[in-house]
Amino acid sequence: MKRTRVVIVGAGFAGYRAARALNRTARRHVEVVLLNPTDYFLYLPLLPQVAAGVLEPRRVSVSLTGTLPHSRLVLGEATRVDLDARTVHYRDPEDRPGELGYDMLILSVGSVNRLLPIPGVAEHAHGFRGLPEALYLRDHVVRQLEMAAHEPDPEERRARATFVVVGAGYTGTEVAAQGAMFADAVMRAERPGEWVKPRWLLLDIADRVLPELDERLGGTADRVLRRRGVDVRMGMSIKEATRDGVLLDDGEFVPSRTLVWCVGVRPDPLVADLGLDTERGRLVVDSHLNVPDHPEVFAAGDAAAVPDLTREGQFTPMTAQHAWRQGKTAARNVAARLGLAERRPYEHHDLGFAVDLGGVQGAANPLGAALSGPLAGAVTRGYHLMSMPGNRVRVGADWLLDAVLTRQTVQLGMVRSGSVPLDTASPELARVFRADHP
Ligand SMILES: Cc1cc2nc3c(=O)[nH]c(=O)nc-3n(C[C@H](O)[C@H](O)[C@H](O)COP(=O)(O)OP(=O)(O)OC[C@H]3O[C@@H](n4cnc5c(N)ncnc54)[C@H](O)[C@@H]3O)c2cc1C
Repeated sequence: MKRTRVVIVGAGFAGYRAARALNRTARRHVEVVLLNPTDYFLYLPLLPQVAAGVLEPRRVSVSLTGTLPHSRLVLGEATRVDLDARTVHYRDPEDRPGELGYDMLILSVGSVNRLLPIPGVAEHAHGFRGLPEALYLRDHVVRQLEMAAHEPDPEERRARATFVVVGAGYTGTEVAAQGAMFADAVMRAERPGEWVKPRWLLLDIADRVLPELDERLGGTADRVLRRRGVDVRMGMSIKEATRDGVLLDDGEFVPSRTLVWCVGVRPDPLVADLGLDTERGRLVVDSHLNVPDHPEVFAAGDAAAVPDLTREGQFTPMTAQHAWRQGKTAARNVAARLGLAERRPYEHHDLGFAVDLGGVQGAANPLGAALSGPLAGAVTRGYHLMSMPGNRVRVGADWLLDAVLTRQTVQLGMVRSGSVPLDTASPELARVFRADHP
């Protein structure tokens, strides 16, 4: 019997879960093909810990073939979907074109860095959406501090030891909180003749930290950040970014060599090119995650505008919590089309959020109960460990080592600034400057 071919484009939270669910429930009837640029599922919520030297990058990268043995992985990046011909066109890692025919399609390509039209930002800022950017930031922070520690010019020293993060959502907040601890550790290891205190600034046009989350989580994060010496400036953004620093809205110029851009994400540009209805760049789907007029096409995760049945008139937020569960619903509704399951709408009440603030600190509100301090830190780490589809022992081992040893403060310099441009449709890949041969 010929199996129905389901192509899943993007193996992140939604795509990975969809593949796993189809493998479990419909393996005999369905051939699952995963198209993804990398051979791993990236556990994004722990990325700030990679940048801060707590976790090694492979800990947050879960092997696709190792954990989804019944799916076929095709390495590549979708460039176009021909909905009439039911074909996905892609380019493989050696930039060769390829195509995949499908009977059913799940689009789960996630999101990319959001840009704002502020002069200099595209040239001088770096985002925080993929592993290459986390590796770049880790090395860059170490390098800047190594240079600052032994810099005789006090102005230059101060600029190199100043790090500006724009966006106080969970990504920016975690980057600043973890980054401040990491930078202090690097400076201690450098033992400069004259002590240089690394300075972190966290800016947001909102009036508080973590504006999209429970106010109590924002309050906790704000306190922890300030205690660590982070200069938290709310109601503030930047007017311009230059090679030498950033010009703030109020006219102050902050000399710095580092601008981390965490103002949010926008859906992957592949979605816009489909010529279908979108909502703020996300592909419009019905509550069953089906694309209207295309019963064979489903979409889930950050790339999809999914009606939130728990909040009338709204769409589900771009979070891993939703993407993961939407992947399961998409798989179920694909199976339902084959008569193997009952079709179900997507409905999920938020279970709360967990923010890792580094060290033993966290801010969390599981099931609405606001937690702070070490208890929240433990809940946050426990939650991440439970949520990871693999590598748990390795992650736990890194946490243990971090608790008893000093951080490794070397920079390998493998990912350079030009390899991680802010404006990219592929934050998961470092840009390669190709020679004639791959
Ligand atoms: C630093 C950071 C921290 C976060 N922390 C949290 C948190 O604590 N809790 C939470 O709920 N959410 C968190 N999020 C948000 C969460 O990670 C996203 O909402 C979630 O990853 C969305 O899942 P997804 O499947 O839609 O996309 P992703 O998980 O991003 O997966 C998209 C996949 O598609 C692939 N892809 C992209 N383009 C193509 C293409 N053209 N062809 C083929 N494949 C493609 C990508 O390589 C990737 O594998 C965080 C995000 C970031 C960046």
